[in-house]
Amino acid sequence: MRALVVSDIHSNLDALDAVLADAGQWDVLWSLGDVVGYGPQPNECIARLSEHEHLAIPGNHDWGVLEKLDLAEFNADARQANLWTRNQLSAVSRAYLEALASTRVEGDVTLAHGSPRYPIWEYLIYASSARVSFAHFHTSICLVGHTHLPVIFRFMPSASSTSDSREGRGQNPLASGQCQALQPVEGREVLLDQQRYIINPGSVGQPRDGDPRAAYLLFDPERKTIEHRRVVYDIEATQKKMRRVDLPPRQIARLAHGW
Ligand code: ZN
Repeated sequence: MRALVVSDIHSNLDALDAVLADAGQWDVLWSLGDVVGYGPQPNECIARLSEHEHLAIPGNHDWGVLEKLDLAEFNADARQANLWTRNQLSAVSRAYLEALASTRVEGDVTLAHGSPRYPIWEYLIYASSARVSFAHFHTSICLVGHTHLPVIFRFMPSASSTSDSREGRGQNPLASGQCQALQPVEGREVLLDQQRYIINPGSVGQPRDGDPRAAYLLFDPERKTIEHRRVVYDIEATQKKMRRVDLPPRQIARLAHGW
């Protein structure tokens, strides 16, 4: 089975379409949240996802648009974009976002936008925060987004959860061990071993790792393989659409640089 995993589309239809065209054949489509916010085409992105049978969970921007989160918690640009999105959102799109459960478990895989502990808000940037997260889900693999940074966190449990190792004593055995942050190599298929993983595909619509190309993940849960991918899209076309509706200039500029 081949899953196409996308996250943080952020109303960027040009980027989403480039990903869908580049991904080849896939069996299931999973979206890890923040389908809206920042970009110019929120309804179109929801409609595009809805053309395919897919699983989706919400992100902080999706909840901000629904007024499930206080926009005071967002930075000024994100707030402005969020208010704009709120006004644009069709009844169909709103109902779509309202229906999303904050996490999903599919077989041996957990989907959470930020982290399995705090699915909407927590950022897993470093191995230290990722390590703690392993106690908060029970599947082998958890897929997250939110940071817009592609990464693979690999957890190696202590030899014994009751051992007197520095890590072990008295801790939840699911979190007793070491965590490594591995940088994915674009286009290289990786066979996952028997350890547990938290994997971030990166962002489709607003990459922040210095590479402006749209990021996504191909994942085969049966063969246990993953492949991080990038694809160019028409950034200027997206920027033009953003300018036309007066979205924040900094959010327009950043797309060309991937930050
Ligand atoms: Zn996001």
